[in-house]
Amino acid sequence: MLELRPNCECCDDDLPPDSMEAMICTFECTFCRSCAEGVLQGACPNCGGNFSARPIRPAALLVKYPASAVRIHKPEGCSRKTG
Ligand SMILES: [Zn+2]
Ligand SMILES: [Zn+2]
Repeated sequence: MLELRPNCECCDDDLPPDSMEAMICTFECTFCRSCAEGVLQGACPNCGGNFSARPIRPAALLVKYPASAVRIHKPEGCSRKTG
């Protein structure tokens, strides 16, 4: 089951479970869309994999299967600058 992590690892922006901006890699490293497509250029800084939009878990199921509350913030992996 997806952890549905609550924030972007790069910029620490909030990514609630219903966010359309949340992008994940195959290991569920989680980023906002602007970081994933911007500074990261579509490649996860932790594993090198690509991103997909995180599926939205229906609100009714969040009660039984709540999102993770553990914030992961690893800005050191996001230092690659375009150009
Ligand atoms: Zn971000
Ligand atoms: Zn990854």
